[in-house]
Amino acid sequence: MIQKPKGTKDILPNEVYKWQYIEKKITELMNNYGMKEIRVPVFEHTELFSRGVGETTDVVQKEMYTFEDKGGRSVTLRPEGTAGVVRAYIEDGLASQATPLKLWYEMPMYRYENVQKGRLREFRQIGTEIIGTGSFLADVEAILLGVNIFKVLNIPNIKITINSIGCPTCRAKYQDALRDFIRPNLDNYCDTCKTRFEKNPLRILDCKEEKCKELNQGAPVILDYLCDECRDHFENVQKYLKANGVDYEIDAGIVRGLDYYTKTVFEFISEDDGLTVLGGGRYDGLVEEVGGQPTPAVGFAMGMERLLEVFERANPDLVKEKTMDLYIASIGEEADIFATKLATDLRNEGVQVEKDICSRSLNAQFKYANKTNARYVLTIGENEVRENKARIKNMITGEETEINLTYDDIKKIIQ
Ligand code: ATP
Ligand code: MG
Repeated sequence: MIQKPKGTKDILPNEVYKWQYIEKKITELMNNYGMKEIRVPVFEHTELFSRGVGETTDVVQKEMYTFEDKGGRSVTLRPEGTAGVVRAYIEDGLASQATPLKLWYEMPMYRYENVQKGRLREFRQIGTEIIGTGSFLADVEAILLGVNIFKVLNIPNIKITINSIGCPTCRAKYQDALRDFIRPNLDNYCDTCKTRFEKNPLRILDCKEEKCKELNQGAPVILDYLCDECRDHFENVQKYLKANGVDYEIDAGIVRGLDYYTKTVFEFISEDDGLTVLGGGRYDGLVEEVGGQPTPAVGFAMGMERLLEVFERANPDLVKEKTMDLYIASIGEEADIFATKLATDLRNEGVQVEKDICSRSLNAQFKYANKTNARYVLTIGENEVRENKARIKNMITGEETEINLTYDDIKKIIQ
C-alpha cells in the first residue's frame, strides 16, 4: 500500500464543503475590496525564491523542494506566493495597469518542514498583494482586510500583533546594535544563526531553537532605531487602526520569516492555540530585487489549514454538508429512460438530482436515497410516464404527495 508523503493531507468530500464555504466567503470579500485573483505556476526557477525570499531565511536555507528537471534546470516548488506574483507583475507588464494593483490568490505551497501541529509540507495559502503604493493607507487596508476575513467567518480570539522593521537605512544602525548584543554569545547560538550573524542578524531573532530564543532575551528593539519617516509611517498605521476599532498589540519580536519586508509587519495569532494564522507586511524592496522598477508593496498570506482549524473550533455547526434535493427512483426501462431525461433537464435548471446508475431494484434505490440523505424521492413506473404524474416523498417527514411531472411542480415541492 503506497501512502501519501509525510506532511501532506487528503481533503475528503466530508470536509471539502467547509473549505468551499470559507473560500466562497473570502472570494466575495476580496471582490468587495476590488482585489483581482491571480494564479501563478507551482514551480519557478530556483533563483526567483533564493533572491525573492532571501538567502538567509528558513525557507531558502532549509525548506525548499528544489530539483533539476530533465533539461538540467534548477526548479523549486513554490514555498510562498509573493515572489511568483511579483515575477508575474514584472514579466506580464502589470505595472502599466491602474496603480495600485490589488491582487489575491489561493494556492498550495511546498516547504520541507519538521511536520507538527499546524506545520505541513503541502499547505494552502490565501494571500493578497497591493503593489505600487508606499502609503501607510495600503498597510491599513491590508490589515483591515485581514481583520474582516475573521469577522465574516465569525472567528473570535484572534490577536493582532504589529511591528515596524524599518527601512534599509534605519535597519543598518539597528543591525549594528543587534550584532553588538549577540557577539559576546555568538558561540552559543545554533549553526544557522551563526551564518546569519553577518548577513542578516534580524533573522536570528526569528530562530525557533530554544537556546537561541533564550540568548535573544533583552536584545535591543528595532522600534528604538526607526528613522523619522519609518516612525511617522508606523504611527499613522496605528492611528488608523485605532480609529477603526482594531485591537492590536505591538510586538517588537516580529521580524517575519522573509527577507524582503520593510516598515510595517504583522501577524494574526489564534489565542486558543498560539498558532500564527496570518502573516504579512510591507515589502518595498522586492520588486526591484526581482528585476523590476523600484515599486513599494504590501501584502499578507494566511495558512488555510490553520484558518480552517480555528474556524471549525469557533463554528462547529455552522456549515452543513449539502445533501441531494431529489432522487428519482424508477421501475423498468421505459421509466428509467424518462428518469434519465428528467434528471438531465432538472440538473440544467439548477436542481440537485440523482437517479439509479447501478441497475438496482426499487428497494435498493430507496436504500441509496436514504443513505445519501436525499430530501425527496420521486418514484416513476410505466403508469407514471403515461399519465405524467407521480408520487413524491419527503424523506424527512415521510409525507407523500402526487404531483404533475413538470419542472415547475417538482421545483415548487422541493424548493
Ligand atoms: P513560521 O515562523 O511559523 O515558520 P513563516 O514565517 O514561515 O512562519 P509565512 O511564510 O509568513 O510563515 O506564512 C504565512 C502563513 O502561512 C503562516 O502564518 C501560517 O498560517 C501558514 N504556514 C506557513 N508555513 C506553514 C506550514 N508549513 N504548514 C501550514 N501552514 C503554514
Ligand atoms: Mg516557516
